[in-house]
Parts: sequence; C-alpha cells; structure tokens
Amino acid sequence: MQKKIFDNSEKAFKLKSDKELNKSIFMFRLMSRQWMVSAGTWLTNFSLKFKLPVKPIIRNTIFDQFCGGETSKECVPVIQKYYQHKVFTVFDYASEIREKSDAELEKDIEDQLELANFALEQGEAIPFLAIKPTQLGSFNTWAKVNAKEKLTPTEQKSWEGIRNRVDRLCKHGHDIGLRIMVDAEEFWIQTAVDDLIEEMMEKYNKEKIVVYSTVQCYRWDRPEYMMNLLKKAKAKGFKIGMKLVRGAYMEKENARAEKMGYPTPICKSKKETDDVFNSVLKFCLNNIEDISVYIGTHNEESSYLAMEIMQQKGIAKNDKRVWFSQLYGMSDHITFNLADNGYNSCKYMPFGKVDEVIPYLIRRAEENSSVKGQTGRELSLLLEEKERRKNAK
Ligand SMILES: Cc1cc2nc3c(=O)[nH]c(=O)nc-3n(C[C@H](O)[C@H](O)[C@H](O)COP(=O)(O)OP(=O)(O)OC[C@H]3O[C@@H](n4cnc5c(N)ncnc54)[C@H](O)[C@@H]3O)c2cc1C
Repeated sequence: MQKKIFDNSEKAFKLKSDKELNKSIFMFRLMSRQWMVSAGTWLTNFSLKFKLPVKPIIRNTIFDQFCGGETSKECVPVIQKYYQHKVFTVFDYASEIREKSDAELEKDIEDQLELANFALEQGEAIPFLAIKPTQLGSFNTWAKVNAKEKLTPTEQKSWEGIRNRVDRLCKHGHDIGLRIMVDAEEFWIQTAVDDLIEEMMEKYNKEKIVVYSTVQCYRWDRPEYMMNLLKKAKAKGFKIGMKLVRGAYMEKENARAEKMGYPTPICKSKKETDDVFNSVLKFCLNNIEDISVYIGTHNEESSYLAMEIMQQKGIAKNDKRVWFSQLYGMSDHITFNLADNGYNSCKYMPFGKVDEVIPYLIRRAEENSSVKGQTGRELSLLLEEKERRKNAK
C-alpha cells in the first residue's frame, strides 16, 4: 500500500507567504463559482475586443495564479526558488495566437531556440522546453495534412516550414542536451502531429531521450496507439518519450464530433478516461527500458498508482525516465510533496504577454470551476494551511 503523502499542507505551500496564500484562496473561491467563470470569460473577451483597460486586473489575478510571468526572465526568481526545493520547471511559452505569417513563425522559432539556450543557462532547474504544435505552424495546414488532403503549393510551403521548424528545435535540444516536449491539441490535427514527432523520436532518441510527445488518455484509442508505437520503436531502434495527460479539449471534441456526425474520439465517462490513463501509465512503466514517461496530472489516485508501480518494479524515485508534473498555480500539494519525497517533480510554467495567454487562462479557470473535483481539494488544503499557520503563531 502506497504511503499517503499529499495531505501535508505545510510542505505543499511552504513557498507561499501569508499574503500569497490568501490571494490563492480568493482566486479558487472565485473560480469555484461556475457563473463567475462564465461571466468573467465573457467580460474578458469583450473588454479585450473593445480595448478596455482590463489587462492590469487580469495580470494581478488569474494571470498571477497560473502564469510565471510575461517573459522567460520574469520567471527566473520563481524557477530558482522552486529548484532550491527540488522542483524542476518546464518552460512553456503559452501564447495561443493561431495563423501567423511565415515571417512571424520564423521569428518565433528563433525565439524558441534562444529560450532553449536560456533554459540551459539555468542549470538543471529546467530540464524541458514545452511547445504546442500550433506554435510551429498554421492550424489549417496541420488539419489538412491530418486529413490527408491534397495541399496547394502555398500549403505545401507552409507544411515544409512546419517540418523544418520542428526539426530545428528537436535537433537543437539534442545538441545542447535539453528535452523537447510537444503538447497535444485537437484530435483533428493530432495524427499529423503524432506522425511528425515519431519521426523526430526516430531521429533524435537513439542514445538518449530528447523528444517527448503527448498522449491524451480521454481518447479511447490511445492504448492501442501506444502498443503500436512501442512495436515501431523496437523495430526501428529508438526510445519513446511520452507525456501522459487526460486531455483538455473534451467539450470541444464532443461538440465537433456531434456536429460533423462522426463517432467521438473521447471516452464515454470520466471513469473510462481514468481507466485508459491508468492502463497507459502501467504500460509505460512496464516498458521503462523503452519508454520515458512524464506523468502530467493533478489526479492523486493516478499519482499514487505511479508511485506504487515504481516501488513494485524497483524503479528508483529519482530515475530520470519517470517525471511527475502539475501546472503552475495548481496542485502544489502534489508537486511539493513528491519533490520532498525524492521523486522527479516538475511544474509546467507558462509565460507570455497577458493578451496572448487568455485562451490558456480561460481553460484553467473552466477546469477549476468544479468544486466537486480538484478545486474543492485545492481550496480545502489552502484553508487548512491558513488555519495551521494561525494556530502556530
Ligand atoms: C503538466 C501538464 C501538461 C499538460 N499538457 C497537456 C497537453 O499537452 N494537451 C492537453 O490536451 N492537455 C494537457 N494538460 C491538461 C490535461 O489534459 C487535463 O486537462 C488536466 O490535467 C486535468 O486532468 P487531470 O488528470 O489533472 O485531473 P482529473 O480531474 O482526474 O481529470 C479531469 C479530466 O478528465 C477528463 N474527463 C472529465 N470528465 C469526463 C467525462 N465525462 N468523460 C470523459 N473524460 C472526462 C478530461 O480530460 C478532464 O480534463 C496538461 C496537464 C498537465 C498537468
């Protein structure tokens, strides 16, 4: 039986001052009201569209909760503080502006290469750089390649640009010794993403694991996908780097499938998603010689399960083939208690200009608007810590 470690609020929030603790309590209380999140989302979009001066309000509230800063440099003090407490950081430029010009995309990739160098300068504190496929090229091009549609000459050029940028980033990671993590997005671009990242794994994951892809376990087809990927990796002689998540686009995926009349790729229930997540997790840990796994979850049961399997299989807590990770601003009780117990524990640290990270912030607010789930747990631990500090004075 795995020892329960996530209830320790003192360790979980040791980096938060009383003021920061109160601010987090305020934020999670606000988000726990679904109507506040809906109204806030509407107001934010409206205000940004009509250029009303709301950025300072966003910056001091939800942005501060879920983003490390507006630039990579702004994140450094937090990153170093985390590292002193054995928590690693994954740099995640969270801009979600889609459909950029070629010149803008080229500028972005140069920035990403520089960011990789900057990450490396921070020493071991930042072992990964994360990137979204749609930061590397047009969503429409990804979608057309995914659908195996014939590309126009302009689209062909756009696709070549994407391939080139992905390759440059992975090669750079390989050359300087920084892991590159590619996020997963919508189902209708994901096969094209999976195929290209597999190519990169084949190229750069021979003697060490540099390139990581992402598997969204709310998709019922993912266990079979993982089995086939392992067969390919063994046949072609490369290692797999894989981030496991449940998936962030469930409502959008179900709505699109219904609208367009195809079977939804999403599991029928939360329980089914949990089962897929846990079975893919077991599969990865059972094949640790070939798969390095990055467990991206705020789910305590799945985290305990991973710890239990590691113990059963004799995998060291600090084995660099197993990473645990939560998002910045969420589930510090998991991150800090895992780190304190010797596991490789990471925070995904998004940064970017306030107006560019709004879609990311909205996803986080929506995800945290259910008091029944993780928010209730988060809030109760924050309140418990406030009480503990009051009694300790
Ligand atoms: C480090 C990190 C990196 C991430 N990167 C990505 C990424 O690249 N791509 C991405 O899509 N997401 C990503 N996410 C977000 C992730 O997919 C989840 O949205 C989020 O973490 C919540 O899932 P959970 O496992 O933490 O918690 P839980 O609360 O246990 O699970 C909630 C999730 O379960 C699923 N679910 C809920 N209700 C149902 C239902 N009725 N039927 C079926 N499934 C249901 C949904 O996926 C929902 O998000 C990342 C998360 C983390 C922590």
